[in-house]
Amino acid sequence: MLGQPEYHQRLERSLLPSAEAFFGSRTKGFRRYGRRARARCPFHPRAEHQNFSIDLERGLYKCFVCGACGDMLTFVMEQDGVGFIEAARQLGALVPGDDAEERRFREERVAKDRVEQAKQDAWALHLEAMAREMETLERVRDWAFQHRRDAIVELAQMCIELTVAEYLLAKREVAGGR
Ligand SMILES: [Zn+2]
Repeated sequence: MLGQPEYHQRLERSLLPSAEAFFGSRTKGFRRYGRRARARCPFHPRAEHQNFSIDLERGLYKCFVCGACGDMLTFVMEQDGVGFIEAARQLGALVPGDDAEERRFREERVAKDRVEQAKQDAWALHLEAMAREMETLERVRDWAFQHRRDAIVELAQMCIELTVAEYLLAKREVAGGR
């Protein structure tokens, strides 16, 4: 893993400048040739020729005279005499590190759990309401039975069975975590 953990920061390569913009502004005699470029090497003295070869796609450089090679970060580190973190900062590619990411992840999880809990609570209320509905239907059915209202008994019994089925389905859904 790149970066120094004690700073809780890390390098985000996608934020690095384009190799063309970077090397174009930090070398002399920069010239592009398709996917590559050449410049005068900033690492060895009296560099008169374009011996400094740059791979623009990968952001890598190599000098054929002094052997200097690396990427934008090592370029900044060597030329400016700074460490990795400072080089990443100068290139605008330093972001909060893993600790911050982990914290954000945890916070997201807590928020998600809260939403899940709210859903469960809503289901519990729904189940309670259905149970009350069943009690009412049973009372209606019993009353109708006592008063020989067969049509109402039948209707109430059908409603009870439907509610029971709905109740069982809802309960299974709650148990399944949804
Ligand atoms: Zn060189």
